[in-house]
Amino acid sequence: MKYLSLVFWLVVLVGAGYVYQNDNIRASATEAITDISKSIDTAIPQLAEKNLITTKQTQTTEESDTAKQTPLESNITAGTLAKTYYYHFDNNVPERVRTVFEQAVAKYNATGIVKLVPGQGTKKQNQIRFFVYQKTMSEEQQGAVELGHGGPQIIQQYGFGAYTANHARSGLNVEYLQSVKLSVAMHELGHAVGLGHSDQKSSLMYPIDQGLTSLAAADIAALKTIYQTKGN
Ligand SMILES: [Zn+2]
Repeated sequence: MKYLSLVFWLVVLVGAGYVYQNDNIRASATEAITDISKSIDTAIPQLAEKNLITTKQTQTTEESDTAKQTPLESNITAGTLAKTYYYHFDNNVPERVRTVFEQAVAKYNATGIVKLVPGQGTKKQNQIRFFVYQKTMSEEQQGAVELGHGGPQIIQQYGFGAYTANHARSGLNVEYLQSVKLSVAMHELGHAVGLGHSDQKSSLMYPIDQGLTSLAAADIAALKTIYQTKGN
């Protein structure tokens, strides 16, 4: 019996020790869990803050994108051109093309920065000739190649009676119905008055038609640079 009771007490002792250890493990496990949830609690606001900062940074980048001025055509010097242009259409320009160009003219006039009026203009005055052409493009080119042509031609006279004028042109490829659009007409007219291509999709001067029918802030800023900079 004595031997048995010794075994009994041994079992009790070992068992108690086991439970004690287990309790310890459980206690430290609970602590660990509390610690984790504490660190999660502190981590979440930190994450949120970081996200906010990232969002703010993105917004700032976007703002500076729109503030990024549309480039000028390479032959344009700021402050050398008068704001008034006389425009006319080639005889073969169909009515639907005239209509979109007239709408484009109205959009540019609405900025107040340039003034486009019907007429031929003298050699010393700025002129725009609207034209049409037909050019077949491969299927890959369609949608990747410009649906029109346009650009400034700078006339510069030095010496007595010196002047600088822009005898520009702006045309649409009537081979394709999709080129007779206000967005394309505005892009080509943009070239005529001195705007170059922009890599900003919000700009009218993005090389591929985005269907945009209003001047972006960056486009307007470029027009101001050309026509509102004090002459030299
Ligand atoms: Zn272009």
